[in-house]
Amino acid sequence: MFTNHMVSSVWDGSDGWQPSELVPLAPIPMHPGMLGVHYAQVIFEGLKAHRQEDDSIAVFRPWENALRFQRSARRLAMPELPTEMFIEAIERLVAADESWLPAGNDELSLYIRPIMYGSESNLMLRPSREYRFLTVAFLAGGFFGNLPAPLSVWVSRTHSRAMPGGTGDVKCAANYGPSFMAQQEAAAAGCQQVMWLDSEERRWVEEMGGMNLFLVRGEGPDAELVTPELTGTLLPGVTRDSLLALATLMGYKTRQERISIDRLRADCESGVVTEMFACGTAAVVTPIGRLRDEKSAWTVGDGQAGPTTMALRDRLVNVQHGRSPGPDGWLHPV
Ligand code: PMP
Repeated sequence: MFTNHMVSSVWDGSDGWQPSELVPLAPIPMHPGMLGVHYAQVIFEGLKAHRQEDDSIAVFRPWENALRFQRSARRLAMPELPTEMFIEAIERLVAADESWLPAGNDELSLYIRPIMYGSESNLMLRPSREYRFLTVAFLAGGFFGNLPAPLSVWVSRTHSRAMPGGTGDVKCAANYGPSFMAQQEAAAAGCQQVMWLDSEERRWVEEMGGMNLFLVRGEGPDAELVTPELTGTLLPGVTRDSLLALATLMGYKTRQERISIDRLRADCESGVVTEMFACGTAAVVTPIGRLRDEKSAWTVGDGQAGPTTMALRDRLVNVQHGRSPGPDGWLHPV
């Protein structure tokens, strides 16, 4: 359910970014030769606004998304949007449509989707000379339900999401369409998500289609949280970064390292790895219960949501709703 408004701004080479406008959500006329659609000069972001205990609304870490949006723009040879404009668009949209977010319902949030695309009608193979920046929002429940059942994950051995020197570490539309075929294979194998391996050796665990991955080694207060290191081919998720920080505050050890799929499987089977979970703005923290590929299938722990996973999920959700203190500057009041 999209909300009623959108914020829109255009860029043309001579005048730069024009002041943005809050307008009713409506279809946008498009020339059939719009460059962004033909050559995938399209970037986007995803972040959430949450109702707070005192009924106000706060957006979670929007400056991180503003900076990632700039990195994505640079990678796609698009003009960078000033971070203040990114934040202002979100503030205006959330202020206009805040009545969509009911009080006293933790399970709903406003998912905010800024997008920028090359809007020039021209099919020359070069960067567009005009761009549009739009921000829309919709009311979101949990991506996998609010108390998510553990996911089954398909390890893709044949498709690639990203390659060294490619665009895996930015948020461009062209990273997503090509992943849908593997997602269909996963669904055909009874899995909800794809786990991507590196494209050179097909050995190193990277991430999933729209979320990062963590595993837990050990149990209780000695548990260690491990996530694939940022090699340039996976997206540096804001949730990933937030969980690394919160885990440290909660007294867990954290590690970012290369994780081989063979070792992951052996460590799940021997019980060294006790839990796994996916994380992202939409997924929040979602346990992973089982993994499989063409030849084999294995379970993580007892296949259920583990205590460390759920403790991290609770802490993150509490910080997002202003119930538990997080690092300064994480909540941006609207
Ligand atoms: N990886 C990919 C490929 C994604 O699309 C997302 C969602 N933005 C993530 C990871 C998680 O990032 P974030 O925590 O910033 O939502």
